[in-house]
Amino acid sequence: MIVLMEITIYITLILVGLCMGSFAGAMTWRLRAGELADDKKRGDNYDKTEYKQLKKLAHVKTAQDRSVCLNCSYKLRWYDLIPLVSWLSLGGKCRKCHQRIGYFEPLMELGTALFFVLSFVFWPGQLIEPLQIVHFIIWLIAGVALAILFAYDTKWFLLPDKLNYILIGLGLASSAIITVSSGNPAATIGSIAGSVAILSGMYFVIYLVSRGKWIGFGDIKLGLGLALLLADWQLAFIALFVANLVGCLIVIPLMIMGKLKRDSHIQFGPLLIIGTIVAWLAGAAILSWYSGIVLV
Ligand SMILES: [Zn+2]
Repeated sequence: MIVLMEITIYITLILVGLCMGSFAGAMTWRLRAGELADDKKRGDNYDKTEYKQLKKLAHVKTAQDRSVCLNCSYKLRWYDLIPLVSWLSLGGKCRKCHQRIGYFEPLMELGTALFFVLSFVFWPGQLIEPLQIVHFIIWLIAGVALAILFAYDTKWFLLPDKLNYILIGLGLASSAIITVSSGNPAATIGSIAGSVAILSGMYFVIYLVSRGKWIGFGDIKLGLGLALLLADWQLAFIALFVANLVGCLIVIPLMIMGKLKRDSHIQFGPLLIIGTIVAWLAGAAILSWYSGIVLV
């Protein structure tokens, strides 16, 4: 009976994760199209070819509108929108013009589904009380926002405000639940303040020192949302450490191969997102392993 229930939970998480990943992929393009349209309206610099291509999407803002092929404007039908299945059955090409669609959509779908499953497997706490389950669902929704932020920052070096504010809202809800459920609310609030200081405050200082040259204000807002999600200064520290570690693992080989110039811009958003997920799901294990080393 329990096994059957577990299997049901896993299948649900995978299916909902795939659908949410598909939604996140579509939202990434729509947000970009909306932003380019805003830039144009304001008379800012914007990529004209990209705008032309995405203009078809700029009008597609309500949920019932269908996505279109960016090459031939073919309106995707319901059977083109089944996560992963459609992409695989079409060999990664548009049904009508056979233009390659690329790996972005399936990666978003698989990534989000993986996030859903790993979150359940490594959830640091029980999932019995209603409040605990609400907390888990808030984390999953935050994961969808993080998937879009991750993709957006990787592609365009930007973290859209709208998404950052949604993340901060979800972070506040998480922090509230963690505070209410903790035996010592005052200490928890202190730890949340520490988390915010580490993940957001430090960026704010770097932002001020470099006058916005090294990092953007978007990183500070992302840091705030992530800090509130973690709600623990030690976890925040681990997130920052993992982000830097992964950053080094990517940057050093690129430098050795000579593919990275001195003034190359590195997106810190995706690294911080990875760091936060690792810290939340494996932070307790990392801390006990670390204190084991120190004590030995
Ligand atoms: Zn097409």
